[in-house]
Amino acid sequence: MRGLLKIAGVLLAAVGLLLLVIAWNTLRLPAMPPATGTPMPPPAELDRAAQRLAEAIRIPTVSHGFARPAGGDRFADLHALLERDFPRVHAGLKREKIGSGSLLYTWEGSDPALPPLLLTAHQDVVPVEPGTESGWTHPPFSGDIADGYVWGRGTLDNKQMLMATLEGVERLLAAGAKPKRTVLLAFGHDEELGGPLGARAIADLLAQRNVRALFSLDEGSAILEGVVPGIDRPVAQIGVAEKGFLTLQLTARAKGGHSSMPPPHTAVGKLGRAVARLEERQMPAAPAGPGGDGLRALAPAMGRAARAVIANDWLFGPLLIRQLGAAPTTNAMIRTTTAPTIVQGGVKENVLPTEATAVVNFRIAPGDTVAQVKAHVAAVIDDPDVSIADYRGEGNEATPVADRAGPGFALIGDAARAVAPDAIVSPGLVVTGTDSKHYSRVSAAAYRFLPMRLRPEDIRRIHASDERIAIANYGEIINFYLALIRAAAL
Ligand SMILES: [Zn+2]
Repeated sequence: MRGLLKIAGVLLAAVGLLLLVIAWNTLRLPAMPPATGTPMPPPAELDRAAQRLAEAIRIPTVSHGFARPAGGDRFADLHALLERDFPRVHAGLKREKIGSGSLLYTWEGSDPALPPLLLTAHQDVVPVEPGTESGWTHPPFSGDIADGYVWGRGTLDNKQMLMATLEGVERLLAAGAKPKRTVLLAFGHDEELGGPLGARAIADLLAQRNVRALFSLDEGSAILEGVVPGIDRPVAQIGVAEKGFLTLQLTARAKGGHSSMPPPHTAVGKLGRAVARLEERQMPAAPAGPGGDGLRALAPAMGRAARAVIANDWLFGPLLIRQLGAAPTTNAMIRTTTAPTIVQGGVKENVLPTEATAVVNFRIAPGDTVAQVKAHVAAVIDDPDVSIADYRGEGNEATPVADRAGPGFALIGDAARAVAPDAIVSPGLVVTGTDSKHYSRVSAAAYRFLPMRLRPEDIRRIHASDERIAIANYGEIINFYLALIRAAAL
């Protein structure tokens, strides 16, 4: 009896200690900055700026694909519009045309010792999927202004960023601003094709000139509203890294013959088994990278239970991973994802196929590498009858992770809070590709952020129908550039 009591006492003490540690870690989470402050007033003549954006939307600078590159004449039209709309920019900055449509502007700073600021955006847009035109409330290239929005392809991706950057610089020039730090504006023309001729060529040129920017800013993340579960306040999520990309082709081979006398596994069966294994045994999750950092930054704004779990991931790690892994959006934040996207094999119902193929796309989390993914795939499939090869190129690694303690992160966060004082600033992982993968090598830290306010229903409009931006939000984006350039370069 006494022995039992002793064990119970020790257990109780252990549980008590555990609870204390959990509570201590939870309490040590940094406090959230208050949701107060006065946002910058809307920029002057915002309606005129909205009209300029609408006119840029009307020029369909579409990237169709490698077989049908975007028409160079449309880029010439857009460039003419920029020259007309931003006369001070074109008088005061050096402009270089790169490739068939990219632009690099240099706003020379007075102190050449300061590393430059690199602000980027892209001029091209994705096509409108044939047959979906009727799903648009306003035609995709109408640039209609209605109900407080500018409508059309490119309002969310990415002409709002292009035009707001130039609005910011034009207005600063009008106010007589002279930067101490050089400001570079880089606008690629083929981001939607991966930026092989645009951003990559601009980055090559900057590298040749030994440019190493203090930081670069590109698209890729936004102010999220009602997107992060359990958080009411807007989240200004600054992308600090971008996932890598790899596509592999699996080829299963088998003897052919008549389907009346099949072996235990045909080529289709072997392929199916390989694909099923890849889906069942995913790359391991690690809430340690930028996705996990974002979660920890947001934890203080969450409910008590979520706070305790996130603050004690040494204990609740597996629970956390299971929770995050359950939804595709959060799963993509914590691991390299596996997506079988194409299968082919067989020609006739009664003929055993000699070959079947599957294409599997991976998005590589920072911390994992192309080589590790390949090794994982080979180990998981573990079948000599299934060969594994690169599919259309060798893929690319995840980008370096930009420093969250660096000056760029603070400057971007402050500019975001200048337009949205109630926003919580957090780091994040960008799960798609942007031009920043090319700019990483000419920038000490590459960030991805724009204060466009995205609710779940807005996210669905990107690359889809009824793309639009609220004019009030466009004003905030212009203000963001005014605040950022003032703080970082003037
Ligand atoms: Zn884009």
